[in-house]
Amino acid sequence: MNIILFGAPGAGKGTQANFLINKFGLLQISTGDILRDSVKQKTELGKQVETIMANGELVPDEIIFSLITDRLNDKDIKNDFIFDGFPRNLKQAQKLDEIMNEINIHLDFVFHIDVEEEILTSRIQNRAKQEKITRKDDTSEVLIERLKVYNRETKPVLDYYLNKNILTVIDGMGTIDEVSSDIFMTIKKDFKVD
Ligand code: AMP
Repeated sequence: MNIILFGAPGAGKGTQANFLINKFGLLQISTGDILRDSVKQKTELGKQVETIMANGELVPDEIIFSLITDRLNDKDIKNDFIFDGFPRNLKQAQKLDEIMNEINIHLDFVFHIDVEEEILTSRIQNRAKQEKITRKDDTSEVLIERLKVYNRETKPVLDYYLNKNILTVIDGMGTIDEVSSDIFMTIKKDFKVD
């Protein structure tokens, strides 16, 4: 089973990704995690992307494509991916189609965890107030910028999947368990899982 998870900053995407990973043993492909790791390790790639990430902007597509191609061409891995934070724009979505065609796998679900913009903004401000900021790009200014980038670059990708009839919009306003349960019910309709 291959899944893409979409959600604006503050929508709870990370939490639901963990739910799916634990429930179905999916392999997470998080471009954000890979990039953060490179920054931490101070690799060439890390140096290239550090400022872009700290500003909440998108890293150039070519860098992302090479990360994704490397991961998906890993011979041990054939299926059962969860894409988290990728694709972030239309070009990336088209590229993912290409790569998946080449290795003969397909997408089963694309989930959009939908949360009202006002709620996102207030969650962002609350997060920033709690002082314990664990990520450099978690200050309220950068989060607001990331939300803008999401609306401008990533939201149009939802239409791309809507037109392919593969998008499920999940109401992200409920509790964590309610959101997980909605996702699970959608999967259950197509897959024999419990
Ligand atoms: P995330 O953890 O997914 O929120 O990603 C953190 C940051 O990494 C983003 O704000 C971007 O700067 C960068 N990033 C992660 N994934 C991508 C992607 N698919 N395309 C471009 N930039 C990305």
